[in-house]
Amino acid sequence: MIPTIASSPSVVVLGGGISGLAAAYRVLQRAPGARVTIVEGESRLGGKIATERGDGFLIESGPDSFLAAKPRGVGLCEELGLGPELQAITPRPHRAYVLRGSRLLELPEGLTGLVPTKLGPLAKTPLLSPRGKARMALDYAIPARTDGEDEPLGGFIRRRLGDEAWERLVEPLMAGIYAGDGDLLSVMATFPQLRQGEAAHGGLIRGVLAAKAASAAGSGPAKPAFLTPREGLGRLVERLEARLRAAGVEIRLGVPARQVRERAGGAEVVLRSGEALAADAVIVATQAWAAGELLAGVSEPLAADLRAIPYASSAIVSLAWPQADVPRVLEAHGYLNPKVENRAALACTWTSQKWAGRAPEGHVLMRIFIGRFGREELLAGDDSDLERIARDEVRERLGITAAPELARVQRWPQGMPQFLLGHPERVARIESEAAGIPWLAIAGNAYRGVGLPDAIASGEAAGERIAALLRRRQAGEPAGTGAGL
Ligand SMILES: Cc1cc2nc3c(=O)[nH]c(=O)nc-3n(C[C@H](O)[C@H](O)[C@H](O)COP(=O)(O)OP(=O)(O)OC[C@H]3O[C@@H](n4cnc5c(N)ncnc54)[C@H](O)[C@@H]3O)c2cc1C
Repeated sequence: MIPTIASSPSVVVLGGGISGLAAAYRVLQRAPGARVTIVEGESRLGGKIATERGDGFLIESGPDSFLAAKPRGVGLCEELGLGPELQAITPRPHRAYVLRGSRLLELPEGLTGLVPTKLGPLAKTPLLSPRGKARMALDYAIPARTDGEDEPLGGFIRRRLGDEAWERLVEPLMAGIYAGDGDLLSVMATFPQLRQGEAAHGGLIRGVLAAKAASAAGSGPAKPAFLTPREGLGRLVERLEARLRAAGVEIRLGVPARQVRERAGGAEVVLRSGEALAADAVIVATQAWAAGELLAGVSEPLAADLRAIPYASSAIVSLAWPQADVPRVLEAHGYLNPKVENRAALACTWTSQKWAGRAPEGHVLMRIFIGRFGREELLAGDDSDLERIARDEVRERLGITAAPELARVQRWPQGMPQFLLGHPERVARIESEAAGIPWLAIAGNAYRGVGLPDAIASGEAAGERIAALLRRRQAGEPAGTGAGL
């Protein structure tokens, strides 16, 4: 049993996104009795998680699900009693399209971790030319790179599978995750398992197949790849908020922090209002650029590395129509626009097809993703410009000309961290700098993984580190330094 912290040390968590909430929750689990305050700049908790429910619609304006294979998405939901509410993607129709010219062509079946592994569907796909397919097959013959040096994700896939496979198959899938430029992203920071598979098995496809066989061997029937609570990801935030409030956590909304300062035995958080909060420990769970601003007075080298992590800006436009206004039969989960097609929209998800219960019977809900790294100008206009881009996209592609019955525009400026070449080294520096500041932990999706399970795991690790510090102090031991972030 974990002893209750008697003298109520105080922990301030900056940022009320999922990583900050998970961090606060973990502090309370491991150091019950700690006084925890969450400071969130916006007027609501959740950060990128933005769920709206009303009139029979369920609209996600940020993430819509999490990878089931990464443990802490499912794990946290189960801890919070949300396990039975988890919902998988509608199994039929389980397909998606990719734009080529003016046509939507089916993404070949059997893509595993971005890489096509089923030769039958690949041989038949009109997405790739015969030359492009022949080039992909060379993956079986090209020697593996074994020097352990990083390279761009795009360069890696081009080297193994050729330009066409990158541009038409892998790039659009990658962009759907990172909104990034694959020729700049680090393969070691984004998909290290692909390089490891290449080194271990002599080729990319062979490596992916071996990993797939190994995971299938121990896992019984196939599990869903993505999950989400039936009532949306907002459930996770609501449930965490309820647990935290019940445990006495103070949640301060609409009060951005301005600065973190070191003081004897701990730190002080200065809010933009001018108020200062004394803390025995601080968890900074904001975006990396915000963490850099907040920590400038604590360690300039740390702050400089935090600020140097670039972000992509994007927007999600949700549109709905009565079924009768949608001329095309929506027999898939949506489509992706490869970068080479040069469209403002990155992807269009047919949400009411992908998930049960997202729109009332007889209505269609879609999400159109706009913007990617390096195309910040797409967000320069106002919301009506973004809605127009989304409506142009669905008119040209799907023939929908009717005005939508519902429209929501959600911008995410500087919203998605980009793990460019040099990112692993930068994160190692950040971790080592942060490890030297015992009262500080840093969390978020900008360091070791951009998805929700990564953000949760990062928050939990930060909570763990701070709880351990409080327990050591309680026991009268020196603070020490502990693990990195
Ligand atoms: C459009 C989009 C779609 C996505 N889709 C998926 C998906 O389907 N699946 C998936 O797994 N992941 C997805 N992600 C990623 C996922 O949303 C993130 O991993 C996760 O939400 C990050 O949580 P976080 O708490 O680290 O950061 P955030 O959610 O960004 O939270 C940081 C918080 O810090 C606050 N803050 C900043 N500065 C200050 C300050 N000075 N003082 C106080 N508070 C401050 C911010 O207001 C914010 O609330 C998506 C991301 C985006 C942008």
